[in-house]
Amino acid sequence: MRAMVLDHPRPAEEQPLQARDIPEPTPGPGEIRVRVRVCGVCHTDLHIVQGELPMHKLPVVPGHQVVGVVDALGPDAKGFKEGDRAGVIWLHSTDGSCEYCRRGSENLCVNATFTGYDVDGGYAEAVIVPAAFAYGIPKSFSDENAAPLLCAGVIGYRSLKLSGAAKSDRLGLYGFGASAHIVLQIARHMGCEVYVFTRTPEHKELATRLGAAWVGDAKDRPPHELDAAIVFAPAGLIVLDVLRALRKGGIVALAGITMTPIPEMDYSLIYGERIIRSVANSTRQDARELLELAAQVLVRTEVTPYPLEEANRALSDIKHSRVEGAGVLCIG
Ligand SMILES: [Zn+2]
Ligand SMILES: [Zn+2]
Repeated sequence: MRAMVLDHPRPAEEQPLQARDIPEPTPGPGEIRVRVRVCGVCHTDLHIVQGELPMHKLPVVPGHQVVGVVDALGPDAKGFKEGDRAGVIWLHSTDGSCEYCRRGSENLCVNATFTGYDVDGGYAEAVIVPAAFAYGIPKSFSDENAAPLLCAGVIGYRSLKLSGAAKSDRLGLYGFGASAHIVLQIARHMGCEVYVFTRTPEHKELATRLGAAWVGDAKDRPPHELDAAIVFAPAGLIVLDVLRALRKGGIVALAGITMTPIPEMDYSLIYGERIIRSVANSTRQDARELLELAAQVLVRTEVTPYPLEEANRALSDIKHSRVEGAGVLCIG
C-alpha cells in the first residue's frame, strides 16, 4: 500500500516524509483494518516529523485523524463490520489497569500508545486500530469534514471543558488553527462570548465569520477581562499575555503537546488564584461526546485538501499558518 513514511525527523520544509510502498497490515485479535479515505493533518504530526517530541518508533507513518471504511476484522473484533465507516484518533490503546486508567483518566495511562507515533498512522491507504478505540462517524459529516473533528475537535473539546468556560463567559482562544475554529463554534453554542487572538489576517477573517465577539493580536488587551482561555499556539511567551488578560480565578488551558519554555514571570501575574493547566491526550469518552455534540451543533469544519503525496507541503503550510481551518489528506 502507499504510505508517507518518516525515517529521520527534520524540518517540514526539507521533505521529511517519503512516499513509499509498504506491506498492507493485517488486523490481530480485537483489531480492525480501516481503509483510509481522509486523514487530517495535526500540529502534533508536525512536532513528530520535526523531531520536537522524543521518537517512539522509526520508521513511522504519522497521522491520527483517520476517516475510512472497515475492510477487515481480526478475531473477536467487536462493534464494527466490514463496510462500516470508522474514525481513528490519537489514543490508540491503554492498559486499562494502571492507577490513571482505574481513576477514569485513561488519557494519562502510563502504558498508552498513540496512533502515528507508537504505531503506524493514517498517512497511508490502510491503518490498524483496536475496535475498542475506533469510533462511528455521524452521518451528517462528509469524510473530509469529519477528519478534523477527530483530534482538532476532540482535544479542543477537552481543552474547553478543562478551561471551565460556562454559559455567558468570555473565552479567549490564542492561535486560530484547526482546533480553535471548531472550539469557537461549540463555545458559541454553549453561550460563551469568544475572543480570538491571532496574527494571520485570513484567520482573523475566518474567526469573524464564525462569530467571534472580538478579534486581535496575542499582545492586544481585549476590551474585557477573560473568564477562561485556551492556548493553541505552541509559544510559551503567550502564556504571560494570557495571564494579563485573565480575570482572578480564571483558568488558562494549554492545548498543545509541546510548547517553547514559559518565561519566568512575576508572581502577581498568577496571584488571584489564576490557574494554568495543560491538556494531555483525550479519553474515549471525550471523543464520543465531541462527535455527538458536533453533530448536534452542526459544526462546520473548513478544510484544505491535499493529495497523500503532498503531506510534506501540508505540514509546511500548517507550520507557517498558511492553512485556513484544517489541512486534510485525501487518500481513498
Ligand atoms: Zn493505564
Ligand atoms: Zn492531533
